[in-house]
Amino acid sequence: MIPKDHPRYRSLVARERLARCAREGVVALEGLTAHGRGEAFDYLIGEKTTGSASLAARTAAAMLLAARHAVISVNGNTAALAAEEIAALQQASGADVEVNLFHRTEERIALITGILEKHGARVLSGTVERLVPLSHDRALCLPHGIADADVVLVPLEDGDRCAALRAMGKTVITVDLNPLSRTARTATLTVVDEVTRAIPAITAACASLEPDEAGRLIATLDNTYLLRAAIDEMRERLSHALE
Ligand code: ATP
Ligand code: MG
Repeated sequence: MIPKDHPRYRSLVARERLARCAREGVVALEGLTAHGRGEAFDYLIGEKTTGSASLAARTAAAMLLAARHAVISVNGNTAALAAEEIAALQQASGADVEVNLFHRTEERIALITGILEKHGARVLSGTVERLVPLSHDRALCLPHGIADADVVLVPLEDGDRCAALRAMGKTVITVDLNPLSRTARTATLTVVDEVTRAIPAITAACASLEPDEAGRLIATLDNTYLLRAAIDEMRERLSHALE
């Protein structure tokens, strides 16, 4: 048992959950190291949702609601950490949910689908095809899911796949604590925040956008500004770190 008063309680709970999910085969071992990279940036950003991340989350909500066909692409880490949050976002946004894995096996697809469904998400099924311009199994997706989507939300995505989705002409929204990653810089919109904070923020924004706000947020989106704001936040915190 992790003591509730431990100063790093949330982080320890997340690690314990990821370790259990890795033992069960839901999370890839590589996913554990990816989480560690994310945690380091979360430290730098102060483990909180910054003003610019809130703005990014509201813009993400506006884009999901304005989409012809929005799809949330879920991998092992996202399912392990935020299955319930993904189900709530699906409810609020009307987006489809597709399981899409970097380290893809049918067994992992079934396990992750099971977790999402247990938390109330409806997960797309069908026969995948090599439709994303990438080599190997990373090209696989559903013709009526990601391949058909105009807007794709891909939390914790790899840079290559993010670029390939952009090359297909899609609007790509990502959640990535590292504002320097290729994903963060390639996506149309990056929410620099921890996934369990970012997804509920997008869900809340879906319900609270003012009628004229959505169009304005989409029209004024400047991802470079959002990434700079995240880096400024980190720099500011670092320069006062030992005071
Ligand atoms: P890229 O391929 O985009 O250059 P990368 O190779 O460093 O990035 P990947 O493993 O491909 O990283 O993608 C995982 C990304 O997700 C990392 O940038 C990491 O910072 C981020 N990340 C990991 N865990 C979380 C989390 N819980 N919340 C938000 N972001 C996270
Ligand atoms: Mg990568």
